Amino acid sequence: MLYGCALGSEENPSGYLLINTALVPVGSTVTIIKRQLMIITIMLVIFAFFISLFMAKHISKPIDSITEAAENLAKGDFNTRFDGRGYLEVKKLADTLTYAEKELSRVDTMQRDLIANVSHDLRTPLTMLKAYAEMIRDLSGDNPVKRNEHLEIIINETDRLSLMVNDILDLSKLESGKQKLSPSEFLIGEKLSEIIARFKGISEKMGYSIHFTPDEEKLVCCDVVKIEQVIYNLINNAINYTGEDKQVYVRQINRPDGVVIEVQDTGEGIDEEKIKLIFDKYYRSENHKREVVGTGLGLSIVKAVLKLHNYDYGVRSKLGEGSVFWFRISQNDVKDVNQFTE
Ligand code: ADP
Repeated sequence: MLYGCALGSEENPSGYLLINTALVPVGSTVTIIKRQLMIITIMLVIFAFFISLFMAKHISKPIDSITEAAENLAKGDFNTRFDGRGYLEVKKLADTLTYAEKELSRVDTMQRDLIANVSHDLRTPLTMLKAYAEMIRDLSGDNPVKRNEHLEIIINETDRLSLMVNDILDLSKLESGKQKLSPSEFLIGEKLSEIIARFKGISEKMGYSIHFTPDEEKLVCCDVVKIEQVIYNLINNAINYTGEDKQVYVRQINRPDGVVIEVQDTGEGIDEEKIKLIFDKYYRSENHKREVVGTGLGLSIVKAVLKLHNYDYGVRSKLGEGSVFWFRISQNDVKDVNQFTE
């Protein structure tokens, strides 16, 4: 019923006006709409299902391929490709893994080189030891002069061997983070003179000259054994790579930010490209000379020790003119000489 009223007077109406409408079509419309809604809902659910299935596949595909590539990498295949097409995050992950793969591959190659170098270097003194021991047994055993000469070579080669083994052990200890610093106070100028004096034997025998330019004496506080090794390795390298004039210069330079130690040679110098590599573990130049003991680990030990101390270090080099290796004992570890208590 839409509308209803009486016609004529209120007490005695002459008729009634009633307006109504049939409800049947509305009911059927509701039913139709309900049915349509149901169909649309079902269709939407099915559509959403397929869309999510497609999306899931699309997203997981690059992740699956990265997982597969990572499995190959874990098996030791360093040529595998990480393809991260699709989403930014997946691309980032792929790039990170590609970088990790490159680094792993580099370390793997270097490790192989190290084993090749070290075994080659270990074999040489071992061969010498065997040869001279046999010579003493078969030839020079009864000749005291010759025998002593051969025994001297055996002793030198044994020293060379133990130095190599020590270098390898030192580096592995330093790199594993197990080595802690044991700082103590010492006079840096005095220490430098003492180390240079240790090279006296080789300088005299082979004609090398090591010139030391000291600065005002300073008291420093750091791990004396390790810093000694750094200075020793740098001088050893300078002797090994210096030019025909066989000159090596060692300098102590006091600066406001610390004490700088420089070791200069007059050799061929180092290519700018190679400077980035020489402090790397296992890196070794092809034209390595064997006059002075070297394992290819000297500069890696230098780097590890200086990093442990947090000291700056570096190298300035000019091709054909030589190189200057330097490091700086930071001012925090430098004290007034008057504070020295021996
Ligand atoms: P090693 O000298 O036993 O090969 P190092 O770790 O001490 O090992 O040095 C690594 C490389 O750095 C050397 O093989 C050489 O190529 C380069 N290098 C080191 N010191 C010098 C130097 N004073 N002059 C030129 N090259 C050097």
